[in-house]
Amino acid sequence: MGLLSNEQLFAEAKTHFPGGVNSPVRAFKSVGGTPKFFKKAKGAWFEDEDGARFLDLCMSWGPLVLGHAHDTVLAAVNEAMHEGLTFGAPSRRELALARKLKTMVPFLEKMRFVSSGTEAVMSALRVARGFTGRDKILKFEGCYHGHADALLVKAGSGLATFGEPTSAGVPKAFADLTLVVSLDDMEGLEQAFVQHGAELAAAIIEPIPANNGLLLQDLSFLTRLRELCTKHGALLIFDEVISGFRVAPGGAAELYKITPDLATYGKIIGGGMPVGCYGGRADVMSRVSPDGPVYQAGTLSGNPVAMAAGLATLEALTPQVYEGFRHQGERWAKAFEKLPGLHCPHVGSILWPLFQGGVKRADRVEGGAIAKFNRMHKLMLDEGVYLSPSGYEVAFLSSVHGNDELAHFEKAAAQVAAQLEA
Ligand code: PMP
Repeated sequence: MGLLSNEQLFAEAKTHFPGGVNSPVRAFKSVGGTPKFFKKAKGAWFEDEDGARFLDLCMSWGPLVLGHAHDTVLAAVNEAMHEGLTFGAPSRRELALARKLKTMVPFLEKMRFVSSGTEAVMSALRVARGFTGRDKILKFEGCYHGHADALLVKAGSGLATFGEPTSAGVPKAFADLTLVVSLDDMEGLEQAFVQHGAELAAAIIEPIPANNGLLLQDLSFLTRLRELCTKHGALLIFDEVISGFRVAPGGAAELYKITPDLATYGKIIGGGMPVGCYGGRADVMSRVSPDGPVYQAGTLSGNPVAMAAGLATLEALTPQVYEGFRHQGERWAKAFEKLPGLHCPHVGSILWPLFQGGVKRADRVEGGAIAKFNRMHKLMLDEGVYLSPSGYEVAFLSSVHGNDELAHFEKAAAQVAAQLEA
């Protein structure tokens, strides 16, 4: 046990940070109770400040594809760190990561490293606008793309959790430039392009929407989106901050065989350190400063320690790892579905446990299903299983979520099932 308990730390945290946290969903507002303060973590497990041990199924929301504190990643970070923490100048590790990315994502002709997913998306939109000379963008309800102003429009993630359709502080003039279409609504999509196609700089989508639950789309919807963008001269941006390097080496673009004009990455690309990336077509990326007129910069962009963590992580992602994800994803989904009434759509190592089935649109998630998730969340914690603290968030497996972890989960789930029934 640490010097201060979770409870004591959270009480103090509330005096420092809004809601006691530095990112909203961490506050446990949706599921209730006191957030676990992570003390240390290794593999699929972590210990909190009360000295309790948990199986982690949130995994820092996705970056930890190899598990917490992976030895190879730590060694790479250690080596880089001793050569300098930041240079604010070009260094060879940026090239090494870029080279690796090009082998995994063939359409990434040119790219830029930034420090978060939000920055990647914000920058990609600016480039799309600079390239096309158009101002409007199209997004899909329930897709979250970080907290850039133009995208906090009927977004999911933390906002869906708190039931807010938009954020205060976003000028109406910005939101007016963002067209929002429902997922799984082909007619709405066609209509949007008929009315606004010529004004759209870009359409942005999570090809595997994973921020309002896992709203897996029909391939025909994504294919049609690609066609419409091409036809109307709008760029297609795949936001692969979650799906990138997770569902396949080349992300959802590879899985679905659809090539976007630009893509955005985060999470896994930094192996647990803050890295984001946007890139794609060379002619579009050539509009970025200093080659072109679209400004974008960053003091810590291409940070050598973060580049090292990202590279070590990506190098460990062998075909066997991806095969393992497919196999484990199936097994864990089945284990989840032993809970009465629970459905668990999944793609590889991304799973969404919800007490409702067949959901493909953000507005179809029922309050009752979320309420039941909240009960399950607390019961799971009591059994030593840490799920993402919101029913709208997905669960992530890593390459070290193996048989022991599954056995622990199955035992916990059996206890939880009994209590949910009672
Ligand atoms: N896009 C997607 C698809 C995301 O899931 C997220 C974060 N959950 C972001 C963008 C924003 O990334 P970050 O939190 O690193 O700013």
